[in-house]
Amino acid sequence: MNTGSPSCDADAAGPDAGAPDGRPVDHARIERAVREILLAVGENPDREGLLETPARVARMYAEMFSGLHADPKVHLRKAFTEKYDEIVLVRDIAFNSVCEHHLLPFMGHAHIGYLPNGRVLGLSKLARVVEALSHRPQVQERMTEQIADLLVHDLGAKGVAVVVEASHTCMTIRGVRKPGSVCVTSAMKGLFRSNISSRAEVMSLIYGGRTQ
Ligand SMILES: [Zn+2]
Repeated sequence: MNTGSPSCDADAAGPDAGAPDGRPVDHARIERAVREILLAVGENPDREGLLETPARVARMYAEMFSGLHADPKVHLRKAFTEKYDEIVLVRDIAFNSVCEHHLLPFMGHAHIGYLPNGRVLGLSKLARVVEALSHRPQVQERMTEQIADLLVHDLGAKGVAVVVEASHTCMTIRGVRKPGSVCVTSAMKGLFRSNISSRAEVMSLIYGGRTQ
């Protein structure tokens, strides 16, 4: 994951190259880039209010992109054997991510349902998976698929349903400026894809009891 290479030059370093000092994220490099952006937009990065900004942004990016250095599969290894073959659903898992097209945040909720195949996850593990996959430059559609694929391939679930609802600041504060718009994506795998009544059941569990 982290090469720790002291020779990673400006353009050759890939996403996992990290900092020369071995840290997964190269803070000094972000700081230089942020200073450049401030200059490019016509600001003075040396004025008092901006002096600490590049370092602050570097720390923020290290946090927001920490998922690049996390393997979501580790959370699925802690599944336990359980004779339970009904739907397990965790609704309203809050997340925040960063859209890879504009580097602006998008945030919302993920709802994850699955039909276990003899192995059940600790409930907090689904939230951990969402965290690892959201804390990286993302596209909502891809994140939705990645969550579902992981539960199919690494948990062996017989069916997986993932619905993600999010508000994208790249749509609300710029461009078409449509505050309040919510983007909904879903991924249905296994039985939830092939069996209409199973899908209807999981969707009613996801949306059931909601007023909106
Ligand atoms: Zn965007």
